[in-house]
Amino acid sequence: MLELFHGPTAAFKDLAMQLVAALSDEALSATGETLTLLTATSGDTGAAAVRAFAGAERIKLIVLHPLDRVSPVQRKQMTTVEADNVLNLAVRGDFDDCQRLVKGLLAEESLREQGRLSSVNSINWGRLAGQIPYYVSATAQLGQAATFVVPTGNFGDAFAGIAAKKMGLPAAGFVAAVNQNDALARAINDGVYARHPAVESGSVSMDVQAPSNFERLVYEASGRDADATRAVFETFAREGSVTLSPDLLAALRAEVSAVSVDEATTKAEIAHAHAAWGRIVCPHTAVALAAARRLDRNGAPIVALSTAHPSKFGAFVSDVLGFEPEPAPVIGALGDRPEQLTVIENTPEAALAAVKGSRRRADAHPLATLAQRSPVERLMAALIPSA
Ligand SMILES: *Cc1c(COP(=O)(O)O)cnc(C)c1O
Repeated sequence: MLELFHGPTAAFKDLAMQLVAALSDEALSATGETLTLLTATSGDTGAAAVRAFAGAERIKLIVLHPLDRVSPVQRKQMTTVEADNVLNLAVRGDFDDCQRLVKGLLAEESLREQGRLSSVNSINWGRLAGQIPYYVSATAQLGQAATFVVPTGNFGDAFAGIAAKKMGLPAAGFVAAVNQNDALARAINDGVYARHPAVESGSVSMDVQAPSNFERLVYEASGRDADATRAVFETFAREGSVTLSPDLLAALRAEVSAVSVDEATTKAEIAHAHAAWGRIVCPHTAVALAAARRLDRNGAPIVALSTAHPSKFGAFVSDVLGFEPEPAPVIGALGDRPEQLTVIENTPEAALAAVKGSRRRADAHPLATLAQRSPVERLMAALIPSA
């Protein structure tokens, strides 16, 4: 089990987000530009982004989350950060409303005039690049090629493994383990990529039915044929379903296999991991473990990626085990620190007014001293708190 959740918000997204933050800030200093990042979140991505970008000199981060619809832990991870470059907006609406408001803001001319605007979603290549070292480091520690089983939503983490292999990493194979939202698994196993509505599961961060990085996989598997790739995704967008050609399907299967794990099996796996190995695992990790135990052993070691600390999903875990997991140290440390958030109505006007009304405080923030260090020192400080 490759534990990737020892960052500041106890989820694997932290590591790559920290890298993207430090590198972006540095690149902006070189050009003298500033950047406003807007992101809608259902919890995890926003928390990792807030922790990573807090105190960045040239970047302002605005996170929209649905009021009262993220877990208290996720909300505190976003709202207890004392950084004057972070604005938390709690929208009276749901996640889709937040996403719609962000899209509107990104297209807003009067904001574009004030500087660069962008987003930190999972299509961002920097986030994928920052995940490649997981696979290199694990293989180096094992001293031999492994089969990696990756709990998968938007297919960013799994694609990073495939990228590592293309860079020369010896790897025995990759398995994308998805939950009951199985559009990707059906595409690879049955050859038909079809749109289905996403349903809520215990492994919420994987409730994705149109994984954005699947397009990258198709592009690579087609021999980087942009026309063929475009044809597949235009058909999918137009018809809601596309049949993959036998050649493309064979090439996809050479890169990755896919397994879908339902809710009952996910729960059974949490129970099994505890009974068999004394390990308490989060539902995302359980999906990967269940898929891993179904594999034929071909001699190569199997590495299941563990993407979140179980206490982030305490209710689901305690439902199975009958007790709450011990909080991760970074979660316990959140305590009752004061929270900062602005509640807004679910309208484009309210969102625009909140974004324009927020001004960076003039007084220097303690984190500003971070900017006086070299990018490598800042990265080390972000990744290893004692450095
Ligand atoms: C985001 C996330 C995933 C899925 O990663 P993708 O790169 O979107 O496939 C899995 N587990 C956890 C805990 C996550 O937060």
